[in-house]
Amino acid sequence: MKNTAERPLPPFARKPLRMLIDGHWVEARSGAVLEVEDPAAGRSFTTVPAGEAQDVDLAVRAARRAFDEGVWARRSAVQRERTLWTLSDLFERHIDELSELEVLDNGMPISLAKRAIERAIDGFRYYAGMCTKIHGRTSDISGLRAQFHAYSLVEPVGVVGLIVPWNSPFAAACNKIAPALAAGCSAILKPAEQTPLTALRIGELALEAGVPPGVLNIVTGLGSAAGAALVNHPDVDKISFTGSTEVGKDLVRAAAGNLKRLSLELGGKSPVFVFDDADLDQAIPRAAAAIFSNSGQICYAGSRLYVQQAVFDRVVAGIADVARNMRLGGGFEPGTELGPLISERQRRTVMQYIASGLEEGVELLVGGRSPDRAGYFVEPTVFASPGKDARLVREEIFGPVLAAMPFASIDEVASLANDTPYGLGAGVFTNSVSTAHRVARLVRAGNVWVNFYGGSDKSLPFGGYKESGWGREGGPEGIDAFLEKKAVYMRL
Ligand code: NAD
Repeated sequence: MKNTAERPLPPFARKPLRMLIDGHWVEARSGAVLEVEDPAAGRSFTTVPAGEAQDVDLAVRAARRAFDEGVWARRSAVQRERTLWTLSDLFERHIDELSELEVLDNGMPISLAKRAIERAIDGFRYYAGMCTKIHGRTSDISGLRAQFHAYSLVEPVGVVGLIVPWNSPFAAACNKIAPALAAGCSAILKPAEQTPLTALRIGELALEAGVPPGVLNIVTGLGSAAGAALVNHPDVDKISFTGSTEVGKDLVRAAAGNLKRLSLELGGKSPVFVFDDADLDQAIPRAAAAIFSNSGQICYAGSRLYVQQAVFDRVVAGIADVARNMRLGGGFEPGTELGPLISERQRRTVMQYIASGLEEGVELLVGGRSPDRAGYFVEPTVFASPGKDARLVREEIFGPVLAAMPFASIDEVASLANDTPYGLGAGVFTNSVSTAHRVARLVRAGNVWVNFYGGSDKSLPFGGYKESGWGREGGPEGIDAFLEKKAVYMRL
């Protein structure tokens, strides 16, 4: 198989990469850098600055100055909207380049990268259009003994830190930048240390589109250094975080310092139910895609599959066949269906979960190995009928590993689906309208997909119940997370 590294690097990845602070491209004050790896080749191809607390402080000062001077927040809504539309157009014009950078950085197949970026641009436009739709309201108040003209104002929350993971880097960044800037906030984006490329390119395009210096700053660096400094900074008003539940809990503690607002999009262990009346020719490939897409590195990956007893063997054998025939490869190789995992660390973690299943005596139907080649590949893997306490069933693996289990009837759905601290997604395959709607109500999760799995539209809220998060991205809720509300009472 040909490695990604054999291709010439796109021009952006060939130049020295710096961080964006106050409209300037700068090194870390310490001069330290982080290596950036191509996960399909398992080797580094460039470096980015290793930002730390002092760099974060400069970025926060720039964002605060831009916010207080009102260069963006007090720009008219129509002007902000135009700038964000221009930026969306620039993304679209550079979609091939952005897709290439995403594949190089993350390893996903190029077709998947392009689709994710297209959807993210649609989402960016959704929020661009929202700049002109942010309104307070008037109120005929009756509780005070006088006449009043009373109304509410809606204002940007201020300086916001946006922290994102590596599994769909461009989309994760846009999901936060678009509503934050539409609301009028100034932002500091901290991309994942593994995947800084598209974030930095977003920074270049934002300047080109006319986003004023200081309004969007991008600080690269480790979570434990740059990320933690942002979360602990007393002059940051809000953190919007997407990442693991474990780090999310650390953020809750750190945010207590100045009681900064917090939105959290966290992990999942999402169940998919296949009923025996489902169209199995559709259900089998879709349930397979639910876990194997992006090599299982999706927060809402359908990693627990429950199949009604009568069709269990057929469905599980079908999914095992899909897995057996999937083509592993670098994201640029034609026909690649399954790319590498993000890093050697992630490959090791996933292989440890597979080992735990084997040690517990769970039946392995297919996969289970890491191919002997460069890069961080793990075969699509299906385990059958693990016990409900197996680690494969309880813990988020974030790799292409499925635990498939039988169930008897809809009466078991709530207890099976909800027997986890997570509540991000759930799927149901059935031809019964009644079953579909009943399951949608029984599961405690933020997203339910019927007869397909995954994906979200910006018009609807996206997020998690329970330990899968706080708050929602998407829809009016997504911009609300970047707004404060003020009540004004005027005695007449
Ligand atoms: P992670 O929590 O390790 O890192 C996420 C981001 O947080 C990175 O930018 C990292 O540098 C930063 N970070 C790490 N420690 C930090 C700290 N102490 N303070 C501040 N920032 C810190 O997660 P990951 O491994 O990059 O991503 C995978 C996880 O993200 C999975 O659990 C997945 O389910 C979750 N995720 C959730 C969603 C969602 O929308 N709910 C979407 C994608 C990924």
